Amino acid sequence: MYKTINKSFARILRTPQYLILFVSNNCWMKCEHCWFNEEWKESNLNEQSLTFEEFEKIAESIKRINFLSITGGEAFSRDDIVELANMFAEKTKLNRYQIPTSGYLTDDIISKTEKILKNNPGIPFRVDVSLDGDEETHNFIRNRKKSFANAVETIKRLNKLKHQYSYFDVGVISTISNQNQNIVDRLAETIEDIKHDGEWMVNLVRGKTRAPKSIDVDLNNYIKAHKHIDSRIENGTYKGHSGHILAPWLTAKNIVRRNKIVNIVEGKCRGGACSAGSLGGVIYNDGSVYPCEMLEHSFGNIRDFNYDLPKLWNSPQGDWIRNNIEDTKCICTQECFLSLNLLMQPKHLAEIIKERIKLLNLNS
Ligand code: SF4
Ligand code: SF4
Repeated sequence: MYKTINKSFARILRTPQYLILFVSNNCWMKCEHCWFNEEWKESNLNEQSLTFEEFEKIAESIKRINFLSITGGEAFSRDDIVELANMFAEKTKLNRYQIPTSGYLTDDIISKTEKILKNNPGIPFRVDVSLDGDEETHNFIRNRKKSFANAVETIKRLNKLKHQYSYFDVGVISTISNQNQNIVDRLAETIEDIKHDGEWMVNLVRGKTRAPKSIDVDLNNYIKAHKHIDSRIENGTYKGHSGHILAPWLTAKNIVRRNKIVNIVEGKCRGGACSAGSLGGVIYNDGSVYPCEMLEHSFGNIRDFNYDLPKLWNSPQGDWIRNNIEDTKCICTQECFLSLNLLMQPKHLAEIIKERIKLLNLNS
């Protein structure tokens, strides 16, 4: 059934509605847990980076994007990130967009964020800053001395912007890896201390990491982070998503997603029904297009399709990839695609509604 559903999504919507767009190879960090590391880039990125004009041609081929993640590397390291974000907002019917960042160059990030907000009034925008531990652990993981202090400063200043722009939201993302799994309690205290008033997303390390041991995580430590979030939800100190009408639903969806990740890692879930390659897709900065960040099957390079994303997305190779994902009952814990899958599968919708009602009751 999901083969037909995914093919229909691709044919009707023409392009991925959840698009992860890599706009830069560069990064200010050298994280231990990074899969987008030199080795990965060397073996996977074969072409020159797309120019602004090439990104513009891609945007012109897209009718609508429901959610655009502008990422890298470090997307804010691009001098023209403001123009790039503006261009996508202008050329596509952009519903929401986000930039994840290490938060390292505070002034630069704040100034670019404010320009983006001013240029695109009313379009929900979120910046997510990574924070992986207390100062010592975070700096160790990130391999940059002032990375913790700068990230905290960036979060605080972004939070001030949040109070000026109703359509802006600030998230904190922590990746649980071998290097911070034993300090999850301290990590939770750190997040609470900085008085961040948005969503705290806890991701599980994945891929072939820069430091091979990063991937070695005891799931109980990951679950511990969930418990911190759950208890903050219960005692009313957890704010969750904001900035648009559906934001509280995203907070409820993330509760279901955290449970789902644990079930997947414990082998309690069946694979299949993944919407990567239909609703969700990835464009790397060399123009190669993939269903997700984990699979090696490429749709091809957008340059070979004259920057026409609908043509590439609905090619015979695209159909083969979608069918192959379903045939192999592919399964993983990638948070973005899990979110999409939860929203697509009716049984999870019921769970999300249940969590939303619980949140409403807690807040009433
Ligand atoms: S994990 Fe992100 S911030 Fe860290 S090195 Fe990789 S791309 Fe850069
Ligand atoms: S289950 Fe994971 S690896 Fe498989 S297609 Fe979906 S997102 Fe990609």
